[in-house]
Amino acid sequence: MASRKAPGEYIQVPPNAAAHVDAYFEYRHIVGDDDGGQMFTPEEYEAYKKRVLPMRLHNRLYVSWINPDGMDCILVGPQHKCLCRHRFTEHKTDFQQIPKDRPILLPCRAAGCRCASFDYAANSSGTSDPNCRCKHALQNHSTNPPYKCQKGCTCSGFSTPFTCGCGTAANKHFTLVETKEERERRGHPTVPYGIPYKAMGGMTGFSSLAEGYLRLDESGRGRPSDEFLNQPITALDHPILRAHAALDPDSMTQRLSRSIKAPKSPYDPNAQLTTGSRKTGTSSQRHIKK
Ligand SMILES: [Zn+2]
Ligand SMILES: [Zn+2]
Ligand SMILES: [Zn+2]
Ligand SMILES: [Zn+2]
Ligand SMILES: [Zn+2]
Repeated sequence: MASRKAPGEYIQVPPNAAAHVDAYFEYRHIVGDDDGGQMFTPEEYEAYKKRVLPMRLHNRLYVSWINPDGMDCILVGPQHKCLCRHRFTEHKTDFQQIPKDRPILLPCRAAGCRCASFDYAANSSGTSDPNCRCKHALQNHSTNPPYKCQKGCTCSGFSTPFTCGCGTAANKHFTLVETKEERERRGHPTVPYGIPYKAMGGMTGFSSLAEGYLRLDESGRGRPSDEFLNQPITALDHPILRAHAALDPDSMTQRLSRSIKAPKSPYDPNAQLTTGSRKTGTSSQRHIKK
């Protein structure tokens, strides 16, 4: 009788498996679903790359969802959803030549969809979509602007009641498609090198995944002031920072034990930290005791 195997023994992994997995992920990032679900042969893959990579390296378009002040609240990536219900990667994103007309249109390529250009569906995810102000689902609206409701209500176009993290209503935002030069003229970051992956949209790095108001570059809220960055390390800071301060002879002046105080807000120099609310708290407690 064969002895029982430990769970780890069931899967035989060849020594170069990791390289195969990496190659597969690279293939997926480059091809997306352009292979129609049937993996390209090595020859087809080479031909595909020969055709699309020059377009991606030279004619990249940046796609973001911006508020009226020009903050890139969302940097659109391959999986972001359009009001036509298809993902960004299902839209046309590779261009032989950058169109001359503005706005630049990124039509949907999903079978049967007549969406004329990618339009970010705020607050939607892979599994759920927000409802419209008219209470009907995104599914019940047309797939072309102004995305009217088809349930016979008075809705004049899809609009979600959601307020963006920037504090502005979602329906005051719009999807912007721009070239590298146009984006730089707006003072927003681009990447200096070409990226071979499909449908990168507005992605420029890891922080691209954060919402605009959290992103500390010019696409979001911007870099905090030097005063904020150089303030003394206090007991409220991250342990790594505190450990560093303890080792750094220059920081002997920053007597840590003394300084349990709230860090300054990087954005609002006039912010009143806690003291005001504490006072009102006490007075209301007294009030209740009466
Ligand atoms: Zn579509
Ligand atoms: Zn679309
Ligand atoms: Zn509606
Ligand atoms: Zn409706
Ligand atoms: Zn916003």
